[in-house]
Amino acid sequence: MTDNLSFLPFTRPFIDEATIADVVEVLRSGWLTGGPKVAEFESALSDYCSGRRVRVFNSATSALSVALKLAGVGYGDQVITTPLTWVATSNVVIELGAHPVFVDVNAQTRNIDLNAIRAAITPRTRALLPVDLAGSPVNRKQLYDIAKEHQLRVIEDAAQSLGASWDGEPIGTSGDFIVFSFHANKNITSGEGGALVLPADIDVKLCEKLRLQGVYLNVDSEIDVDVLGIKANMTDIAAAIGLGQLRLLNKITEKRRLLAAAYFDQLPNNILLSLPEPNFDNKNWHMFQILLPEHVNRKAFIEAMKNEKIGIGIHYRPIHLFSLYRELGYSIGDFPNAEMIGRRTITLPLFAEMQVTDVHRVCQAIRKVLSCF
Ligand SMILES: *Cc1c(COP(=O)(O)O)cnc(C)c1O
Repeated sequence: MTDNLSFLPFTRPFIDEATIADVVEVLRSGWLTGGPKVAEFESALSDYCSGRRVRVFNSATSALSVALKLAGVGYGDQVITTPLTWVATSNVVIELGAHPVFVDVNAQTRNIDLNAIRAAITPRTRALLPVDLAGSPVNRKQLYDIAKEHQLRVIEDAAQSLGASWDGEPIGTSGDFIVFSFHANKNITSGEGGALVLPADIDVKLCEKLRLQGVYLNVDSEIDVDVLGIKANMTDIAAAIGLGQLRLLNKITEKRRLLAAAYFDQLPNNILLSLPEPNFDNKNWHMFQILLPEHVNRKAFIEAMKNEKIGIGIHYRPIHLFSLYRELGYSIGDFPNAEMIGRRTITLPLFAEMQVTDVHRVCQAIRKVLSCF
């Protein structure tokens, strides 16, 4: 019966024709690396972030790395973060010679357990690095109360939460350092890319130096290098894609909310019970994730869904269980909530060009496959 249907992936970017035309124009312009389009993209992102200063990068990973340096994180410092995220979040901390200190997630929100953060703070703690998993925002009031109380910098890994908001304020419009990702799987993309929203006390010139080899023009208009920078600038090609995507952000977020609502309507009740509150106003529904019942073998479930021509993702296997992190001293049992979610979570298809009828198809397949376990 499903033979005529095409495979439904769990995500797919949506690029409109106007954006394709803009990219072609860049390709014909003779200027491919960072130039006028990057400046335009940064200015458009700044407008979105209530006028705050924004700089773009070749990835969110690079933006996180520069943000940590600007926040003063260095050798031997500790940074508190979640184990239930993409591994980039904590890799950048290790890369700086600092230590990621994981705090388990709240089983309901699946984000870092804010009530457990204080117990993890030591004299070596320099910053908090929370993640808005699946575009579901961490409680900003509680987060910044803790940061203020302990004089910690905050780097919001908002790689997944552009378009989401907290208490009516879009993510990126307030707070300390905020990092967005434009990886191809995120709600909007530039192919690869990222952005860093800067707090008022940080020198934008230093940010630019750290982004590109430490290079700047001195008072004699000569090139000088006075800090060690990386190579992390964005191209005009990517910026043209990003600009076109930013124009679509509201439309894309609205569509994702509509599809998420359709999932809430159509998923079987026993699955719905495993989901956090819908909370449609805050989330951007970067991913629609459900927990499989404990008795269901996830690998077999995913294989059976594939036979129904439906793609399923896993986000995430908890970071502390990766081999590298076990070498750092972490082991099974350290973060039971992240491990329980990491074992059972699956990501259902949800992307801008999907239709409500596709949601129906996914839910029917879930019913069919689950009845076999
Ligand atoms: C995607 C992602 C990153 C990394 O983004 P890149 O642009 O691929 O470097 C970091 N953190 C989280 C939570 C992400 O989802």
